[in-house]
Amino acid sequence: MNYNILLALLIIVFGVSCDSQKTVVSTAPSAPPMVLKKNQKPKNIILLIGDGMGLTQITAGMYSQGNSSELERFKCIGLQKTYADNDVITDSAASATAFSCGVKTYNNAIAVDKDTMPVKSILKYAQDNNMSTGLVATSTIVHATPACFFSSNKSRRNYEEIAVDMIGSGVDFFVGGGKKFFDRREKDERNLISELENDGYYVSHFAEQDIQELTPSLDKKFGYLTADKDPIPVSGGRDYLIPASKMALEYLDAKSKDKGFFVMIEGSQIDWGGHANLLDYVVSEFIEYDKVIGMALDFAEKDGNTLVIVTADHETGGLAIQPGSTMDSLKAAFTTTKHSGTMVPVFAYGPGANNFQGIYENTEIFEKMKALLQSEE
Ligand SMILES: [Zn+2]
Repeated sequence: MNYNILLALLIIVFGVSCDSQKTVVSTAPSAPPMVLKKNQKPKNIILLIGDGMGLTQITAGMYSQGNSSELERFKCIGLQKTYADNDVITDSAASATAFSCGVKTYNNAIAVDKDTMPVKSILKYAQDNNMSTGLVATSTIVHATPACFFSSNKSRRNYEEIAVDMIGSGVDFFVGGGKKFFDRREKDERNLISELENDGYYVSHFAEQDIQELTPSLDKKFGYLTADKDPIPVSGGRDYLIPASKMALEYLDAKSKDKGFFVMIEGSQIDWGGHANLLDYVVSEFIEYDKVIGMALDFAEKDGNTLVIVTADHETGGLAIQPGSTMDSLKAAFTTTKHSGTMVPVFAYGPGANNFQGIYENTEIFEKMKALLQSEE
């Protein structure tokens, strides 16, 4: 048997690692290819959650922007099972608890188990490793997905209680809506913006200045509230996600020095387009989020020591692309105004990305990240 045939057979039998140096090659024109050592663990983890971003949302967004998506740059791809402890159809709270804390729980739970006992999030584990941490969302910052990283509460609706948990959370950088839950509270007179300032934060908001006018100082933690309640859709003029994500990566990278950082950036409103059964809303939110994905990949390629994970908490709307569609003019059908129970994809790039292949429970996202956080010293 000649050598080439033997090599081909070996590749068929054993496969090629999707995060090996050979298969992870930069597609950005200016970025150098990343070089991975065997069993290397990432210094930084960027977790990108497209809320309600199922395969059809991705497909529709990709076709709508010239049959192209930054997601095509990933080679390590898996599928996760999204069901909650008490329902095949999860909500964002149970699913976020699953991937942030590693437990299946009931719908509405914010980082508590099915007995309402608090569970520890990956962000807190990152802090144990002296990593810098950040959260960016296009919902309020107290909404289910970001909340599950810094708060624990028996109900996602307790927005004012969740906001209190930001005090003392140690989160270095946060950007999202929901200012009224901090400084115009119904249940008490507390001004959490002042309390955050006393807790070492620089805090600003939409009514004071545009986030793009700010340069956060590394001497302070940074918080910026983008709206009084829910931020508006990108089609209505919301424009902070991309600059806030860029700022988060630069700030956390500089602040963390050699310790690394963990950041979760959520494209919250892909879900809201699904609930509204509006394809244009889904697609416009995806297209903006796709740019964040590209930015994260560019950062990771340049850095060479950053793991990027992109996934969703669930699919929303039971969306299908219908016969009669063209790429320029998609005909969509939604089967529900709620979430659906389908598996959702997971995309991973960088050191440890290999672990995210296959089909697994949403809680495994947490387990895999936690295993990669543990230092080898
Ligand atoms: Zn939803």
